[in-house]
Amino acid sequence: MAEDLGCQGKVEEAQGVMKLVDQLKEERQDLEKQPGQEESPMIKQMEVCDVCGAFLIVGDAPQRQDEHLMGKQHAGYAQVRVEIERRKVRTIAILLLKLLKYVFECKKVRDEIEAREATETKLKLEREEREKERQLEREERRKKEQAGDEVEKEEKTRESSPMQIDETGDSVNTNGKDVNEESSCHHGPPLSEGDTKIDE
Ligand SMILES: [Zn+2]
Repeated sequence: MAEDLGCQGKVEEAQGVMKLVDQLKEERQDLEKQPGQEESPMIKQMEVCDVCGAFLIVGDAPQRQDEHLMGKQHAGYAQVRVEIERRKVRTIAILLLKLLKYVFECKKVRDEIEAREATETKLKLEREEREKERQLEREERRKKEQAGDEVEKEEKTRESSPMQIDETGDSVNTNGKDVNEESSCHHGPPLSEGDTKIDE
């Protein structure tokens, strides 16, 4: 193949291919030189170590397996992996704690807001209740006053009519006027005919 490339004038490519071939030959020799491979050197199956990535021979002698596990490369990688796991767990734990704290803070704030709102609602209701009560009281007082006025009027009219001659108050006068001017009074029930008669 290298010769073919050489014939086609692709010298650089030919040189590259030659180099590759040499490399592969060397690697083959190296593999063949490895100890413990007297019987069938090329048939041995290889696997990659999950921890350190080294090539291992499948079904190797226990002693060699132990040697690999105790070796600097494997032990070092194992330590690094443990450390990475430890840090991962630590980071996750810290994040979880932060999240919990945040959730707790949120709950606290929400509880505070709800409590404040509840208090405000309660105060508002109380205010409204008080206002209603005051309104009722006012209405009742007004009613009482009205009733009192009417009673007073009644009483006044009742009192004033017979004592008209003696008294000189305004109310008496007006009452008297009414009574005098319209002798048949429709100004209120208490002004009975008997009274007016006395007037006349
Ligand atoms: Zn290993």
